Amino acid sequence: MFREIRDIIGNGERFLITAHIDPDGDALGSVFSLYWVLDSLRKQPCIYLRDRVPYMYEFLPKPPQVFHGEIPEDQYDAVFALDCGNLFRVGDGYEKLKEMGPVINIDHHTTNETFGIVNIIDAGASSVAEILYRLYKTMKATMSFNVAINLYTAIFTDTGSFRYSNTNSQAFLICEEMTKSGVSPSYVAQMVHENHPKERFLLLGLVLATLETHKSDTIAMAMVTQDMFRRTNTSKEHTEGFVESVKEIRGVDVAVLLREITGSQYKISMRSKGNTDVASICNLFGGGGHRNAAGCTINGTIREVKDRLKEAFKIE
Ligand code: 5GP
Ligand code: MN
Repeated sequence: MFREIRDIIGNGERFLITAHIDPDGDALGSVFSLYWVLDSLRKQPCIYLRDRVPYMYEFLPKPPQVFHGEIPEDQYDAVFALDCGNLFRVGDGYEKLKEMGPVINIDHHTTNETFGIVNIIDAGASSVAEILYRLYKTMKATMSFNVAINLYTAIFTDTGSFRYSNTNSQAFLICEEMTKSGVSPSYVAQMVHENHPKERFLLLGLVLATLETHKSDTIAMAMVTQDMFRRTNTSKEHTEGFVESVKEIRGVDVAVLLREITGSQYKISMRSKGNTDVASICNLFGGGGHRNAAGCTINGTIREVKDRLKEAFKIE
């Protein structure tokens, strides 16, 4: 299948590259690395991400133009959908993508719905970047610094800085190779973990004050509201890492963060440490993800949403 994609790239000119809404390090690093590989082959890649790049990933080398908000409608020789469990994850207008060119679906979510003409799904891969690395090797692409730092950051962030259960030997091997291409691990770690604006911590204080635990402190929930964003002059990009912080509590198996989108819609992020499969719980609500990290959107008032979550976790 890598060879099939290599040939599609070899025979084509124009490519659209996209990933999911609320992009994380893997989505961004994957999209940008593919851009630089295609650029080095003198192709015409174009990136669409519904949301703009969160401040913590602004250090990643990206093209001069990235499209946000509205999909640049055109005909492409292929449309790459990266890190998306389903095409819906690209955001509004996703239905049009299939008319714009053959969709190539590259992902590592267990819940992937194989929506592409070509589907490379490896749930054992630490990240989409790991799968792309294999593709680039098949293509004999040069691992320039711009490719290397994007791949490194994608793997570094999707493995929770090499802490989560998806941390495999490939993750280390690829990252080791990327350091040889000039990536400084301490620089990436600083950019990702030690570069937050003060406001983010004011928001974290408000969020931690909402912490509640259930089932003998094995399930922890916290909440972020639009009012908290207003009070601290922050937005959803400042919540990255919050659910992971809650997971740090000893004995907690599942951490849940509820983020108010509107008074009647909440974005739910779940993380688990042990055997609890949060992807299947999020799947109950139409979402998905990985065994230990998943998400979904639930409609209802905060009371209703909490009640539905408590029911899913069998909390009395
Ligand atoms: P996060 O909580 O950081 O938004 O997402 C955690 C993981 O679950 C990521 O791998 C993300 O792609 C996936 N995910 C989050 N929300 C959804 C959703 O609504 N649907 C699906 N299919 N996956 C999601
Ligand atoms: Mn990913």
